[in-house]
Amino acid sequence: MKIAILSRKRELYSTSRLVSAAKERGHKIRVIDPVQCYMNISVDNPQIHYKGENLSGFDAVIPRIGASVTFYGTAVVRQFEMMGVYCVNESIAISRSRDKLRSLQLLARKGIGLPVSGFAHSTQYTSDLIDMVGGAPLVVKLLQGTQGIGVVLAETHKAAESVIGAFRGMKANLLVQEFIKESAGTDIRCFVIGDRVIASIKRTAKPGEFRSNLHQGGSANVVKISPAERSTATRAAKIMGLKVAGVDILRSNNGPVVMEVNSSPGLEGIEKATGKDIANLVIDFIEKNARPEKTKSVRQKLNA
Ligand code: ADP
Ligand code: MG
Repeated sequence: MKIAILSRKRELYSTSRLVSAAKERGHKIRVIDPVQCYMNISVDNPQIHYKGENLSGFDAVIPRIGASVTFYGTAVVRQFEMMGVYCVNESIAISRSRDKLRSLQLLARKGIGLPVSGFAHSTQYTSDLIDMVGGAPLVVKLLQGTQGIGVVLAETHKAAESVIGAFRGMKANLLVQEFIKESAGTDIRCFVIGDRVIASIKRTAKPGEFRSNLHQGGSANVVKISPAERSTATRAAKIMGLKVAGVDILRSNNGPVVMEVNSSPGLEGIEKATGKDIANLVIDFIEKNARPEKTKSVRQKLNA
């Protein structure tokens, strides 16, 4: 097969692992920087050009769209879909997962366990907002954040009021969430491919920190997950429409709750902790599923 991986840099761990796994299995694979692509809007003959070349003949695309280029990156994925090329994660699913509010609303509608959450833009009624989600302690998040940046624990009502006030001053959309203290600085990352969790790790925050992000100094270990956690993770990925996903779960007293669903889950932490060849499993999935014109309905998608 001829595979394109949409990624800004071939040196990134996940990108280079996917490239070598594809080559080992006898495929041709190219790293394409999505922001260097330019496209035509055409009914009959949609094209993507890349540094002067007309890209053609691809059987599958692996999108690894960075959060900072979501808007343009998903447009490139959508163009591949219009050209009939199989995309492991479709553009609409990537866009959904990048919007925390939209994700939580979709998951809630389908009955997935979530931390009690509220969101706001510019309300002055901070105290009522805090009470609406059950009061302090609570976690306040900037909607656009990733890697733990913009996620703050407010231990008291007063602290919550001032954090929310500060975020409001920045004119930011914010999420106010019940603090799951019983998870004690840990979360579970489930790596989903298709309808299976193929690996899972427990991430533990460094001492004195509640955020378990590896970028915030957290550490990763293999973990055995429960059947409830397994089904929560696979259902969450399916609801988002993602074939490859990293589903982050907190272990709460009321069972597993989903924190977020990532459409470009990193391979480094989870491959190193579990010793599994996840890149190889992604390519295996593509071999079994890639077909031309498999995108559900481009027209429907463009209307969504
Ligand atoms: P980001 O998208 O920046 O990674 P997250 O929502 O995943 O933001 O939050 C970062 C980390 O903070 C999580 O991995 C988790 O360890 C901790 N955390 C987030 N929300 C909660 C919560 N409601 N209760 C307890 N811990 C939380
Ligand atoms: Mg996270």
